[in-house]
Amino acid sequence: MEESLEELRQTFRSGTTRSVAWRKAQLRAILELVRENEERIFGVLQQDLGKHRTEAYRDEDRLPLIFFPGTGEVLPEPLGLVLIISSWNFPIGLTLEPLIGAISAGNTVVIKPSELSPACSSFLANVIPRYLDSKAVRVIEGEANIGEQLLEHKWDKIFFTGSPRVGRVIMSAAVKHLTPVTLELGGKCPIIVDSLSTSDIKVIVALLVSGKWGACGGQACVGIDYVLVEEKFASSLIDQLKKTIKMFYGENPKYSKSISRIVNKHHFGRLHKLLKDPLVAASIVHGGSLDEEKLFIDPTILLDPPLDSEIMSEEIFGPLLPIITLKNIHESIEFINLRPKPLALYVFTKDEAFKRRVLSETSSGSVTFNDVLTQYVCDTLPFGGVGQSGFGKYHGKYSFDTFSHGKAVLRRSFWLELEPRHPPWNDFKMQF
Ligand code: NAD
Repeated sequence: MEESLEELRQTFRSGTTRSVAWRKAQLRAILELVRENEERIFGVLQQDLGKHRTEAYRDEDRLPLIFFPGTGEVLPEPLGLVLIISSWNFPIGLTLEPLIGAISAGNTVVIKPSELSPACSSFLANVIPRYLDSKAVRVIEGEANIGEQLLEHKWDKIFFTGSPRVGRVIMSAAVKHLTPVTLELGGKCPIIVDSLSTSDIKVIVALLVSGKWGACGGQACVGIDYVLVEEKFASSLIDQLKKTIKMFYGENPKYSKSISRIVNKHHFGRLHKLLKDPLVAASIVHGGSLDEEKLFIDPTILLDPPLDSEIMSEEIFGPLLPIITLKNIHESIEFINLRPKPLALYVFTKDEAFKRRVLSETSSGSVTFNDVLTQYVCDTLPFGGVGQSGFGKYHGKYSFDTFSHGKAVLRRSFWLELEPRHPPWNDFKMQF
């Protein structure tokens, strides 16, 4: 079994199954399989189930007559009672956005905001009952234990935003009632900086700084986690980063009103620990000072920290930016593929062939070329992860779909009831 599974993974990695030619050939092969083995299929169905060949047969060339006269439609229906558990870093938006989807689809909702943003949690608990129908929408505040108690109940859908660790808890709780889940998780979102021509460097680095420190001080699921760049561009990139940080956040960013602090002591300690590793500390090229009382960490840049260090294996979720240098930017594709699938992938490049390679050879929740974060606010695009960054999509119409079941409806009438669809079976009836 292990050998077979490994071989199948290898085939997938090789890209064989993506080609249109391969897919067409395989689908044709299924058709041939059925055509060439029709008699055997009738035989084995008869053997196992005593099935008559007419019951096993489906005409392949035209819409089967049994559907006439008929029409079909997909009717969205609400799922029922849904649970929305959200995180602290964008505590209002990450609660209201799924709520909009759940209500627009016609569900009743329980919201469990994060206890780590208590002011936002109590704000939501206060205002939601004043504005919305309390018979249909409730806010239940609390810590992880309240989340656990909620998970003991039967839900028709659970929509979770948070860490992969708690994502696993949610999924195992959902198993009991076969509850569908959407998991909006995190991970390490890389940015590939292909070239740094002098004309582009200012705009690229301004976007990079905003994408790292501008979104909740680096505490954002779609925020930039680390940079991949060719060796030869590293020093000009670092110089421009330093200049831009100073321009955006002043001489001492601790006193800037444009950068968020670390959410609490626990996360401060976690980030501090990442920097304590001596090899990581040695790679700091900018920043690195911490103020525990103010829960503030300077925008910090690290050049080539060890790839097996925690800062390069765990989601950073804070104001630390490792820069990883490569000989050739094309190596970035393998670098990404050797790690869990990111929620967002950012690529600064003008090279159309490289763009195509990124799209066809890597997997991530989204890919954004020459910009950062804006994919999140583009409501005509679905937002969601893949692999370890989660599954399920929302935003715009996708939110409605996420909280709906698309019921297939086939409508027929009685006026033409075809006798051949009923037993006793004979060869003539097989044509229908
Ligand atoms: P978290 O997983 O610790 O907590 C999220 C929510 O789950 C909170 O409301 C918390 O109270 C609740 N919770 C914690 N333990 C629970 C348990 N045992 N049972 C039930 N509920 C429980 O995540 P966090 O620290 O709030 O957020 C940070 C993580 O969220 C990061 O990994 C980040 O990337 C991810 N995130 C993802 C998105 C996205 O849209 N994909 C957005 C923001 C954050």
